[in-house]
Amino acid sequence: MKTPAGHECPHFYGDYFRGKNVEECRLLKAQNQLWSPDLCKTCPVPAIARANSCQFMRLNTVVARPLAALFQRRVQVQAFCEKSEQNVAEPQVGCGECHALPFKFEIKE
Ligand code: SF4
Repeated sequence: MKTPAGHECPHFYGDYFRGKNVEECRLLKAQNQLWSPDLCKTCPVPAIARANSCQFMRLNTVVARPLAALFQRRVQVQAFCEKSEQNVAEPQVGCGECHALPFKFEIKE
């Protein structure tokens, strides 16, 4: 479903049937974080979901006010792989356990 910011996000839920106007982020709701529509504008989750659909990767989110964003509320994401049981440094790429590249790039000098 498309977020108020216009990105497709698997965690956004909107119910507009018969005059209803219910919107929520089910990812933040499940992790007891307070959601507001402005968070979707800068949230990294839609891009992560587009790039990596690994069934074992879990996203842990926190809404923070980082200095780099001039203390505006932002969704911060940490990824964890339940199969390899390790943190995933690059959620768009994954941990490399299931989807390893079939060949190696080598730089010859
Ligand atoms: S805050 Fe992020 S995860 Fe939640 S609905 Fe918006 S884009 Fe999706």
